[in-house]
Amino acid sequence: TADIALARAKQAGRNTFRFYSPEMDADAARRLGLETALRDALANNELAVFYQPQVSLDSGKVIGMEALLRWNNPQFGSVSPAEFIPLAEDNGLILPIGEWVLHTACHQARRWHDLGLASPLRLAVNLSARQFRQANLAQTVARALAESGLPANALELEITESAFIDDVDEAIAMCHKLKKLGIKLSLDDFGTGYSSLSYVSRFPFDKIKIDQSFVRDIIENPVNAAIATSAIVMARSLNLSILAEGVETEAQARFLRGRRCDAIQGYLFSPALPAAEFEQLLAGRCSLPIADLPSDGKQT
Ligand code: C2E
Ligand code: MG
Ligand code: MG
Ligand code: MG
Repeated sequence: TADIALARAKQAGRNTFRFYSPEMDADAARRLGLETALRDALANNELAVFYQPQVSLDSGKVIGMEALLRWNNPQFGSVSPAEFIPLAEDNGLILPIGEWVLHTACHQARRWHDLGLASPLRLAVNLSARQFRQANLAQTVARALAESGLPANALELEITESAFIDDVDEAIAMCHKLKKLGIKLSLDDFGTGYSSLSYVSRFPFDKIKIDQSFVRDIIENPVNAAIATSAIVMARSLNLSILAEGVETEAQARFLRGRRCDAIQGYLFSPALPAAEFEQLLAGRCSLPIADLPSDGKQT
């Protein structure tokens, strides 16, 4: 991988030379710096898994949590996964890092189960396209379950459409292999790609997650409101569970509840938290005050 990085650096250098602009230079330098630092991030203990609660719109209770990776580097500070995950995808570091996330999160979830804090709670872990294309992915997941002792039905893997576009039949076969382990599958960032009802129905998903870009202005933007609503209708017609991401306001939660969305995730309830803080939240039996969230009258 050092050779690949060197080749990349040379390539970046060539591009910078050919189409020079100061921003490109800075971008390429940052990219290279991040790639180099990321290579040692695991060994240097710079990575951490945070947990964001997922809340039922029926009961207001926490029903699960999404594991979200955090990277804090002495030189670059806290780097967003939106920036470093794509780099790790490109250079292959996502494979060891992704496996570490899976193991860490499964062990953590098992501890919470043992403490009686999380018995019915489901852990959601993101899988990138590159991980999804690994022929031995099912074995990797099986190992994480076996080593942690987390029951398979307490694990859910989140996959985005980008993991499927290359070879749909192969992707469907991989999904079935994963489902055989007893885990759940969810389609992440729904609405950002081209997924249609017929396309989604070919995959053995258990859940659809509406992307936060539609949720953000669900109240003001009738087009995004319509997209979110039709995603809910679609999920229900396919007998899938449906969760909305990026819910920040009570008005959004009320809208989604009125349209019978099952669950939400977002800053309204809580951002992703370090394990210790998430544990406190669980121990406090904190819930979303659903009684104060009457539906907006559009209940069907
Ligand atoms: P995602 O899987 O769609 O995760 C949801 C993102 O929305 C997270 O960003 C979360 O912190 C953020 N979010 C949650 N609630 C709100 C809200 O109310 N408002 C706003 N504005 N944002 C909210 P984060 O943690 O920065 O992660 C970004 C993306 O990076 C994730 O999108 C996922 O695609 C990827 N990612 C994160 N951790 C991992 C990982 O362990 N493995 C892989 N492969 N990808 C990961
Ligand atoms: Mg996700
Ligand atoms: Mg998402
Ligand atoms: Mg996303």
